[in-house]
Amino acid sequence: MSNVISQMMESARLTTRALFEFGDHLIHPTVRLGVTGMSGAGKTVFITALVHGLMCGGRFPIFEALATGRLARARLAPQPDDEVPRFEYESHVRALVTERRWPESTRQISELRLVIDYQSQSGALRTLTLDIVDYPGEWLLDLPLLTKTYEQWSSESLLLSRQPPRALLASNWHRCLNTLDPNGAEDEQAALSSARLFTDYLKACRDERYAMSALTPGRFLMPGDLAGSPAFTFAPLELSHDGPAPKGSLWGMMQRRYEAYKDVVVRPFFREHFARLDRQIVLIDALAAFNAGPDAVRDLQEALASILGCFRVGRRTLFSALVSPRIDRILFTATKADHLHHASHDRLEAILKRMIERAATQAEFAGAQVDVIALAAIRSTREAMVRRGREELPSIIGIPAAGEVAGGETFDGQTEAAMFPGDLPIDPDTPFDRNGGSFRGLTATSAQSADFRFLRLRPPTLQSTDSGKPALPHIRLDRALQFLIGDRLQ
Ligand code: GDP
Repeated sequence: MSNVISQMMESARLTTRALFEFGDHLIHPTVRLGVTGMSGAGKTVFITALVHGLMCGGRFPIFEALATGRLARARLAPQPDDEVPRFEYESHVRALVTERRWPESTRQISELRLVIDYQSQSGALRTLTLDIVDYPGEWLLDLPLLTKTYEQWSSESLLLSRQPPRALLASNWHRCLNTLDPNGAEDEQAALSSARLFTDYLKACRDERYAMSALTPGRFLMPGDLAGSPAFTFAPLELSHDGPAPKGSLWGMMQRRYEAYKDVVVRPFFREHFARLDRQIVLIDALAAFNAGPDAVRDLQEALASILGCFRVGRRTLFSALVSPRIDRILFTATKADHLHHASHDRLEAILKRMIERAATQAEFAGAQVDVIALAAIRSTREAMVRRGREELPSIIGIPAAGEVAGGETFDGQTEAAMFPGDLPIDPDTPFDRNGGSFRGLTATSAQSADFRFLRLRPPTLQSTDSGKPALPHIRLDRALQFLIGDRLQ
């Protein structure tokens, strides 16, 4: 009973906050933009480039408010949520622009407020507040757990772990699993060792050789200060029948901890952060998945279906009646497009679009407006035709970071190198196909020996623009901005 009362009080508190925010946003128009993506997808770089471009006047011809001179200025302001760490914009810009190295990646949630003064199309002076919320995609993948019982999650996770290439990576954990009796007495040591081996398996799936994406519970990959607590000490079990779990059993123990994980980790994230977002961008390192092969591409599609499902998750949860997700625009972006020749940018977009279409069908998604863009928040390369023997090959040129090795050469971080990234397939279905013909990763057959596409490149220098202000080069960042906030600056 007390549980029901506390849930009712929680709902009332959330409704009050939602109403307060709604009223406040009428007076001070605000967009809360969620930026997410799996670790390494490019969130930190994206936010830094976007804020730098808005504050310093980036070259954004497609971002209408800036291109037509209606954007007067953008400035940072204190963020609204005191308990959320601030996005360390200044140190990230220093790393990128002054030191020309990539900034520290996202490890946890952070927030940054940008206030944009602009002239409306009718000539009135207006202000839009943009609250950017940066959070790990691993947290987003956890939201579907809210609608799953331990038994459902357990059997789905097991099924997935028996498919290639996961089965190989799961072998240690599977061996441990075979020794466990779900109906036997609860056993802390059994829970500890299976949780550890299960976590090792999830981490192995993240390795760039496999680049798997559909990995839950996401916080097992990024536990923060909750590591080692019982809410993090559970794993799937081989269950022969549906519940209820026998009293005092290992099954019951795992089930309890799974529910605790949802209470301690997933629900707070949903109500404190996700349910308050207006717009969402999901960054995807699709090139990493292509390079790992069709299994990784299918896995990514699976993860995207699960993410799309999240945008409906509120309707089925306790909070659904009062605080459903209010996101009305979702942008999926394939990042690091500067690793490809421009001829492949549209192809990258087409493949991601196909992936989202398939995922949307799987997730029975309907709701927010969705778009897909291939972009590079920061462009580290330029293009050139480079002669190799008798061939003239379209190549990209950049400075590999110090210590990167390719073709027997160790780079010093100062010297340019030409790379031959190869073409993406014209048919957007090819990357999904396990018998995908000649398409394997991005390898350019004519220049395989000089294929430097996995090299980490140094960020570029600022480049001068028509306005005279130096800016960071990018690919299609302005299109992303136009989709995400263009309509709110009319
Ligand atoms: P996060 O974990 O999502 O915050 O990822 P980061 O933003 O830290 O990006 C991870 C790494 O990807 C960076 O250190 C860069 O090496 C690379 N990266 C991210 N964005 C870009 C981009 O636009 N162009 C290039 N060339 N590399 C990028």
